[in-house]
Amino acid sequence: MFIFLVIFHLNEGAIVMHEFSVCQALLGQLTHLANQHPGGKIVGILLVNGPLSGVDSTLLHHAVELCKKDTVAAEAVLTIEDRPLSIHCRDCLHDNEVPANDWTCPHCASLATEAVGGDALILARLQLDFP
Ligand SMILES: [Zn+2]
Repeated sequence: MFIFLVIFHLNEGAIVMHEFSVCQALLGQLTHLANQHPGGKIVGILLVNGPLSGVDSTLLHHAVELCKKDTVAAEAVLTIEDRPLSIHCRDCLHDNEVPANDWTCPHCASLATEAVGGDALILARLQLDFP
């Protein structure tokens, strides 16, 4: 068993991307990675999804289950972790995790905040099995 760590921003640069488009991008990336590791079978995929990514985790999970048949990921188990939104407060300079619908600084109640994380869908881990 071999654990392969990668970080890819699957939705970087996209304004709006339909889950099936994201799914196609993911499978393209998985095919590329599988070709780099001949003989390995993809058995596990971990995606990390931020609330501002524009991608619905449930819909993406369904899309992958439909699209992965007859691909390098046909037998892979997909896990999608939803991450909270991270904000930076320009008044107290603290970074905090907050609900996506409330950007108020939990430290000082300021509204002078900006998102610093949570806008990406990331292929965080790929698990390959070498029989
Ligand atoms: Zn603050």
